[in-house]
Amino acid sequence: MPRIVMKFGGTSMAGIERIRNVASRVRREAEAGNEVLVVVSAMAGETDRLVQLCREASALSDPKEYDVVVASGEQVTAGLLAMTLQNMGAKARSFMGWQLVRASGVHGNARVEAIESATLDEALKGGTVAVIPGFQGVSEDGRVATLGRGGSDTSAVAIAAGVKADRCDIYTDVDGVYTTDPRIVPKASKLNQVTFDEMLELAGVGAKVLQVRSVGLAMRENMPLRVLSAFEDKPGTDIVAELSGSEMERNLIAGIAADRNEARITLTGIADTPGTVAATITPLAEAGIQVDMIVHAATPNTGSSDLTFTVPRASLAQAISVIEQGKSVIGYSDLVQDPSVAKVSIVGVGIRSNPALAAKMFETLAERRINLLAVSTSEIKVSALIAEDELELAVRVLHTAFGLDDQSAAA
Ligand code: ADP
Ligand code: ASP
Ligand code: MG
Repeated sequence: MPRIVMKFGGTSMAGIERIRNVASRVRREAEAGNEVLVVVSAMAGETDRLVQLCREASALSDPKEYDVVVASGEQVTAGLLAMTLQNMGAKARSFMGWQLVRASGVHGNARVEAIESATLDEALKGGTVAVIPGFQGVSEDGRVATLGRGGSDTSAVAIAAGVKADRCDIYTDVDGVYTTDPRIVPKASKLNQVTFDEMLELAGVGAKVLQVRSVGLAMRENMPLRVLSAFEDKPGTDIVAELSGSEMERNLIAGIAADRNEARITLTGIADTPGTVAATITPLAEAGIQVDMIVHAATPNTGSSDLTFTVPRASLAQAISVIEQGKSVIGYSDLVQDPSVAKVSIVGVGIRSNPALAAKMFETLAERRINLLAVSTSEIKVSALIAEDELELAVRVLHTAFGLDDQSAAA
């Protein structure tokens, strides 16, 4: 019997009517002869609400207690979906993360270590649909742990790999992966296929349609992954190892991503000697703060240098406090912070062989007088840090400049 994982995101689970729609889709797959596991998100907006409650209770809350609070949204939707399926005459039961998903690492951003697949095998063999809350697992110390925002995608892929499913389908509120966020650019084009490499980069630089870790995991586990609509019966986007057929001829740039989750910190007047960058970045890493873009430039003949880097906006206050504590070791003169920055990126396997694409990106932004605050590149991606209020303009002009606008939508 084919075994499939179906993951439904927050918009698809927002309210009983939508949960009924999800249940009908799940039942259809079960009746078609599949063993079905369903991974669910909390209702749209619920996790944000819970995060806000934690902030109000305590500015720097204990991450273990934060996890207790924010994991609760998925418990509700898992139970409601199992009930709704039972009500429709399907065999279904819910599980909780602690029964199935062993996790490790920091609370609030834990990683999946193992799936208790025997428990699930048993349920599936008896024809029961297993309904599993995404985003949560149990840490080594026996406490509830969450997998980072958007983590239900990673739960779905990890569970699919753990039970050796034939595929993992991610149902969401758009009908596939687009050349950019269709909510920013209505003329975005849907991609029939996107490579794991491209999807990893797109997700890594802000295309939140898939959590980046879910893509890396699917790639390593060779798990067929699709993104498709929870509301319409339409083919979605396949995430593939290699493009095939007419897709091989497509644009050199797969997409443009936008990320508002950035804040910039600049330290001026740092000694231009070995070890100062490490003295700044290491304590941040030890505090679990992810540093993204880093620009370190010495002013010639002064013995002094500036260090600019970005951190997730939600970690800015914590990062500043870590740096101020290390001031005597780092030895900077000024610390400047700017939370109103954003990152725009072009992604595509074509970048590897065509340096003109990066140049075209910078020219396009310059024509609109958009200033570059920092730049970073990888083999198939170029990212530019810009002022946040210029982000949407930047995405639109790049989308047009790289020929990605959907011509039928533009007509
Ligand atoms: P879910 O709750 O189903 O996990 P998310 O909100 O996490 O849904 O992800 C879906 C959203 O991702 C879409 O509504 C869309 O606004 C956004 N998005 C960003 N970039 C892209 C892209 N390149 N293609 C499709 N959607 C994108
Ligand atoms: N509910 C969690 C979040 O909003 C996990 C998810 O939806 O993937 O981040
Ligand atoms: Mg999501």
